[in-house]
Amino acid sequence: MLDLKISDLKPLFTEDELQKRIKEIADELNDFYKDEEVYLISVLKGSVFFAIDLSKHLTMPVCMEFIRLSSYGHGFKSTGKVNAVDISLPDLNGKNVLIVEDIIDTGLTAKFLLDFIDLNFKTKSTKFCSLLDKKISRQTDVDADYHGFVIDNKFVVGYGLDYLGFYRNLPYIGYVENADKK
Ligand code: 5GP
Repeated sequence: MLDLKISDLKPLFTEDELQKRIKEIADELNDFYKDEEVYLISVLKGSVFFAIDLSKHLTMPVCMEFIRLSSYGHGFKSTGKVNAVDISLPDLNGKNVLIVEDIIDTGLTAKFLLDFIDLNFKTKSTKFCSLLDKKISRQTDVDADYHGFVIDNKFVVGYGLDYLGFYRNLPYIGYVENADKK
């Protein structure tokens, strides 16, 4: 039995707030890339809802790729290690690469991915876009080029973010009070 119920979640961002902000980010991206081709890399599983909703507002030609990384172990804390479950990518040499993540926490996943792209390809541009940013928890010097919301060090769930694999399907984002004490 799951020890976290939907009713335990405190509201953080409503569906409307998320969608409004996503449209604003898309407008910024449309402005930056104009009509250049973009390779949008969605990091599974957490960013899938964000990547799809964001991509629907993009007006340039977009090639969507999905890779799978994991760093959260069992519950509320990052393992501190990034596990590349599936990182097969097309040839990104000379391409505009836009990495789309659900959240930057320690920044280890972002750093791993940016280093991986940098080591393997000479891209035209590489940008990092994260829906949420827990700036206060950062353990690396990476930063998002685009982000939706900066949040406190809360454990958040919904809109792609899970608790033990559950609740990604919620259309809003909530947080777990006192998750650090659990
Ligand atoms: P980082 O490597 O920056 O520490 O963590 C990135 C990954 O950890 C995210 O893509 C996400 O899967 C997971 N993560 C970090 N913070 C949270 C959180 O508050 N809730 C959930 N559900 N996952 C998180």
